[in-house]
Amino acid sequence: MEEYPFHNAVALCHTLALPFVKRAQVLVDMTCGNGHDTLFLAENMGKQAFLYGFDIQASALASTQSRLETNGLFHERIQLKLGSHENLLNEIDKIPDFIVFNLGYLPGGNRTIHTDTAITLKAVDLGLHKISVNGIIMIVAYPGTPDGKKEKDELASFLSHVPQKRFDVSYWQPANQVHEPPGLFVIQKRG
Ligand code: SAM
Repeated sequence: MEEYPFHNAVALCHTLALPFVKRAQVLVDMTCGNGHDTLFLAENMGKQAFLYGFDIQASALASTQSRLETNGLFHERIQLKLGSHENLLNEIDKIPDFIVFNLGYLPGGNRTIHTDTAITLKAVDLGLHKISVNGIIMIVAYPGTPDGKKEKDELASFLSHVPQKRFDVSYWQPANQVHEPPGLFVIQKRG
């Protein structure tokens, strides 16, 4: 359990995700980056579960693999794949139960390599189709920059049209922080 589970969108994401991660059979980290989210999933996934991690940057996957290895958690049920997440998610032959996106750029890396709004929307749409019944998609968005705000707004607009009989969709954001703090979209497919 995080010491301050409501401090920011990533802490809230991990806090809300935990029970779903523990019972998921197939988990996907759509944006590995430095591997913090992948490590959280690897630490908490079930003993029979499979975890896929994607990134378009080889350096991000190397950093993620190294983080998993350092923690003794890189094994045969974890696959890290280089490429764009909408293509890689499409290639998975298993039905995911938990999908996480952490948008934006790689911290400490090249800030011009930001998630692309059109690709994000395509990948989220595919996730909505592929996710299991009762499965969860969580998306951490960063509206504090112009690109991040555009991406968060377009995502909010897209998700506002998702049929409420089939999905529960919400957006959570700290209310007393300066500027535009990161926010968290939570989506669950209903039975
Ligand atoms: N989850 C990461 C962590 O815990 O450290 C942080 C992710 S970072 C904010 C965003 C990552 O998304 C970057 O590493 C970037 O390379 C990756 N990315 C951007 N577009 C992508 C795409 N189309 N498919 C897969 N990864 C992408």
